[in-house]
Amino acid sequence: MKVMSEVRKGLNSGISMKCEMCNFQEIIWTEDPHNEKMPVNTAAVSGIMKIGGGFANLEEFLSTLDIPPLSSKTYQKEHNTIATAWEKVAKREMYSAAMEEKQLAVQAGEIGPDGFPTLTVVVDGCWAKRSYRNNYSSLSGAVSFKESLACFIRCHLSNSYV
Ligand SMILES: [Zn+2]
Repeated sequence: MKVMSEVRKGLNSGISMKCEMCNFQEIIWTEDPHNEKMPVNTAAVSGIMKIGGGFANLEEFLSTLDIPPLSSKTYQKEHNTIATAWEKVAKREMYSAAMEEKQLAVQAGEIGPDGFPTLTVVVDGCWAKRSYRNNYSSLSGAVSFKESLACFIRCHLSNSYV
């Protein structure tokens, strides 16, 4: 078998092979298409996202290893798929945490006059007020809540500039 060419789909390469005796030709992929693990491109993008990196970081990392990087189009496609999945899981986890808090409040008899379970939440926040030479007041800041319910509330408040 002789290697004829290579086709690349991100980090997955297809090696085109040809038999020099009977001319039989086949493409062998570096990633098994029947593999049930996370595809290599998804894994690479997921990995760089998990450590707070982006396209340029992955490109730099792969070039250091002398591996041709993913195209920005492939990266973006994988990124969108992963971000959507993460958001779905985060919402489910936040809902689950809120339901657990609700159950604990009911167990502790912490029910408000309107019949709804009440939760004690400790809140603190900040925003930038100072800079060099001019008066500065940032439109964004940070808020923290104590309780596992915190992430549920933070998600809903963060979009309304609270
Ligand atoms: Zn042959």
